[in-house]
Amino acid sequence: MVNREKLEHIRNFCIIAHIDHGKSTLADRLLEFTGTVEKREMKEQLLDQMDLERERGITIKLQPVTMSYRHDNEEYIINLIDTPGHVDFTYEVSRSLAACEGALLLVDASQGIQAQTLANLYMALEHELEIIPIINKIDLPNANLKKVTREIIDTLGCSEDDILKVSAKKGIGIKDVLTTIIKKVPSPKVNQDDFKSLIFDSFYDEYKGVVADVRIYSGQVKVGDKVKFVSSGNNIEVLELGVYRPKMESRLELFNGEVGYIVTGNKDVSQCRVGDTIAGMNVVDALPGYKEIKPSVYASFYPVDASEYMELKDGLDKLKLNDASLFYEPESSKALGRGFRLGFLGLLHLEIVQERLKREYNLDLIITTPSVSYKVLLKDNEQITIYTPSELPDRSLIQQMSEPWAKVDVIMPADYIGGVMDLMQKYRGVYKNTEYISSGVENSRVILHYEAPLASLIIDFYDNLKSITSGYASMNYEIIGFQVSDLLRLDILVAGDIVEAFSRIVPADVAFKEGRAMVKRLKDIIPRQNFKITLQAAIGGKILAREDVSAFRKDVTEKLYGGDVTRKRKLLEKQKKGKKKMREVGNVEIPQEAFLKMLKK
Ligand code: GDP
Ligand code: MG
Repeated sequence: MVNREKLEHIRNFCIIAHIDHGKSTLADRLLEFTGTVEKREMKEQLLDQMDLERERGITIKLQPVTMSYRHDNEEYIINLIDTPGHVDFTYEVSRSLAACEGALLLVDASQGIQAQTLANLYMALEHELEIIPIINKIDLPNANLKKVTREIIDTLGCSEDDILKVSAKKGIGIKDVLTTIIKKVPSPKVNQDDFKSLIFDSFYDEYKGVVADVRIYSGQVKVGDKVKFVSSGNNIEVLELGVYRPKMESRLELFNGEVGYIVTGNKDVSQCRVGDTIAGMNVVDALPGYKEIKPSVYASFYPVDASEYMELKDGLDKLKLNDASLFYEPESSKALGRGFRLGFLGLLHLEIVQERLKREYNLDLIITTPSVSYKVLLKDNEQITIYTPSELPDRSLIQQMSEPWAKVDVIMPADYIGGVMDLMQKYRGVYKNTEYISSGVENSRVILHYEAPLASLIIDFYDNLKSITSGYASMNYEIIGFQVSDLLRLDILVAGDIVEAFSRIVPADVAFKEGRAMVKRLKDIIPRQNFKITLQAAIGGKILAREDVSAFRKDVTEKLYGGDVTRKRKLLEKQKKGKKKMREVGNVEIPQEAFLKMLKK
């Protein structure tokens, strides 16, 4: 039995890396090696517990797990937090870092240091974590240990001996990883004060209510204790607490230095906020929380069935508990009724939120074209911020507009510099400088530093970057501020009516080209109906382009010449149901997928 008060026997660390470099697989091996999960219960990337994560093969959520491990005849508690690698889920990483004293930095032996390797490393250094560099996938035939070792030494300034060499898949070097964690990651600081814990994640459980994932920074807590959320001031009683192994395993107490969960019994989801402190009743000061994160992309969500507005609200409230980077506020639109404006960290984040609302809360949604926010200075000197193109005032009222800009880092083999520079120019990028990842190696890879409008990065830049570099480039971006731009609102008219969800803001010099491309694309998406449909692109009432969808009559009862009345009725019912998945604009039915499809080129 472990003496839990012996802080020297606790190690808290997370695994950080670029996407796909093997974090979740290394976590599997650690779970196996420490006997936390039995062989027969083992499956690949066990900590990716959401269906969505397993289907897509990516980690979306951070996931804590507690292991015990015997080393030199002493028993250690080792708390691991697995993190996502994609830039849209950076907030999950930054919160994980704050709950740990160390980080394993994984680098794929065939890929080398990539954009999110650096982004996550810098974050870990900001949190003053002990970094343990690991080269993973050493079993791959195209592993290049020499080159990757050089890259890590030049980036971290560590020595060659500090770098562990591992194959997470084949289970090579795992013991070394555990021993190094015990030797190098500092144990949590001794702190005898009143109970204080930082909420780094939370979720809603149908039976338990709100569950908070916490890292304890001082004192201890046990079942039945009266505690409070320090910022919101709400009192609660601890109904249950425990650790993840990786399933929830209840305990009677949690001590300083430990990572676990607290069931608050609270059904009101607004009470618990990630970054708040749960503490003893006498505590006044909260622990330093997290930086509030600002969304970079906005889109509006409306229920397909207008009567599901409250379900959508409830779904968002609960999802927010589990996704601290999600932002939303109510909004209403003439055409679409009551809904919400949501803010995201990127398009993948948007897609995941939409999928989760659909799967976890059974909601069918209409989503407007994602957009960044714009600052608009009106002629009367009033400054407004708009989040959707439809909010943009008439051009005659506008003095000046500005849009968010980002710092973009692209890492790639030097051969692709030319291609990437051409691409950046197409996306309105401004070149800053070039950096080499490591010195004195042949074919060293480079980092191109650019600045570019965020709006042009969020849609399909990454796909194009991947395709022109045969998948060898990676990128990271970070918003740096607003810059003045010449922008216009481009509207799409379906059968003479503006469809708000299709409107977008575009640079004036590409408006015409973009308008033509959009109606062409829409023509392929809108199904024929029993009358001709005109599609038009327009700027401030001036038509730029037009396409027609010709008439077509889909008579489902055609085949049933007269005969069976009930069968006929059944078919008509079925057709009616099918229609519910569509949104009517005037007389025209637009399939739900059209709204997202229009985004992708
Ligand atoms: P994550 O995105 O960093 O969590 O990466 P995953 O753990 O999901 O792994 C990404 C892919 O790399 C999966 O297909 C793994 O099977 C594979 N992978 C992970 N570690 C190794 C390794 O050591 N060797 C090889 N050959 N493949 C690995
Ligand atoms: Mg993963």
